[in-house]
Amino acid sequence: MSFLRKIKRKKLKADTKKMKSAFRGMTKRLNSLGDSCTSCSKSFDKADNEMVMGWSVYVNDGFPNLVCPECKQEIEKLKQEQREEIESDRTNETRSEEDNGNLRLGTDSNA
Ligand SMILES: [Zn+2]
Repeated sequence: MSFLRKIKRKKLKADTKKMKSAFRGMTKRLNSLGDSCTSCSKSFDKADNEMVMGWSVYVNDGFPNLVCPECKQEIEKLKQEQREEIESDRTNETRSEEDNGNLRLGTDSNA
């Protein structure tokens, strides 16, 4: 039964569609991004090439957010922390699964 796989594929398709429309929207809205950092309100000069290179646009819920290099670093740090949290959760899950497996193995050898 590939019911689960079907759902997964459907979700993936929806995500791609969402991403594409977000990207289209982003390109369209690039000029209306504003002239300051979304996070700290530092002013952004579109004419300054160095600024244009250093600043980033984060798409959040389909809306582009202009962020300065400092805030970008903060965001990357938060993302990294979130990743590590997810990974440590996964490690805990794996460990408990292994424990169950060992327990079952012990019962099998006794029988
Ligand atoms: Zn900022």
